[in-house]
Amino acid sequence: MSVKKFFTPDHVPIQRVQFAGLIFDILRLDKIHEGASGNKFFKLKYNFLEAEKKGFKKILTFGGAFSNHIAATAISAKACGFQSIGIIRGEKVNNPTLELAIKNGMQLHFIDREDYRNKDQKDFLNDLKNKYDNPFIIPEGGTNEKAIAGTSEIHEFIPDHYNLITACFGTGGTLAGLINAKASHQKILGFSVLKGDWVKDELRNLVDQEKENWELSILYHFGGYAKWKQELIDFIIEFYEKTAVPLDPVYTGKMMFGLMMEWKKDNISSDDHILAVHSGGLQGIEGFNKRFGFDLVNK
Ligand SMILES: *Cc1c(COP(=O)(O)O)cnc(C)c1O
Repeated sequence: MSVKKFFTPDHVPIQRVQFAGLIFDILRLDKIHEGASGNKFFKLKYNFLEAEKKGFKKILTFGGAFSNHIAATAISAKACGFQSIGIIRGEKVNNPTLELAIKNGMQLHFIDREDYRNKDQKDFLNDLKNKYDNPFIIPEGGTNEKAIAGTSEIHEFIPDHYNLITACFGTGGTLAGLINAKASHQKILGFSVLKGDWVKDELRNLVDQEKENWELSILYHFGGYAKWKQELIDFIIEFYEKTAVPLDPVYTGKMMFGLMMEWKKDNISSDDHILAVHSGGLQGIEGFNKRFGFDLVNK
């Protein structure tokens, strides 16, 4: 399939839910394409278009062993007729994420954490280019200028009447696209899944400087990236029971928990027209369940 066709969804469902007395809508990016779903799909689009235009045959990228970006890259590469290579941080392991990547033809290469730190350095990248016969390289997490051009297109699926739009912060690429493309009456409220207030500067540096009416909450990270507490797990289970919308514990679960807390604290009005962006990540749940013995729903 051509890259353009694969990365041009003609429809993204919006689902109305009610939870804790708040009625709001969810943009189900997770429904676009199983596995390659969610924000990663938008982040990859312009990288893949450039790879195609320049005649590359292989895509190479980086990630941790549970990375949504790795899974999405493998699936997208297969669908668009590229070979793919995943440089995975840490010792050789197997888990459902990596199995999914392998199933989609990705060749995996594990490197130790120390070497992995060089992943943005020129020499290291040149070695990889030689070793893997000149692949097109996409950085880890996939946040570059092209990624933000892609995530800006999420806005095309957001009807104008929404005035409060929420999404997760991981590297900021998704929120930056949403902020850059929004209309002035729309407020973007981000929820960081990382610990620390440095994320605010990080996001400020990614967005168009004249854009106003956005905010990043740093209160609901549950200890940091991929950290969790039982309260978060209980929330995800209850949210699914009441709405039938599955959430993952690394990203969307924390955002939705944050949104509900802000509603309970009266920082959100029932007059707001709220759209929560479901950025996907459901492929990671199987591995999470296996590691910690949970039974969270993943579709
Ligand atoms: C990667 C990811 C994010 C974070 O996106 P950034 O652009 O890195 O901020 C959010 N949700 C899911 C499900 C993700 O996989």
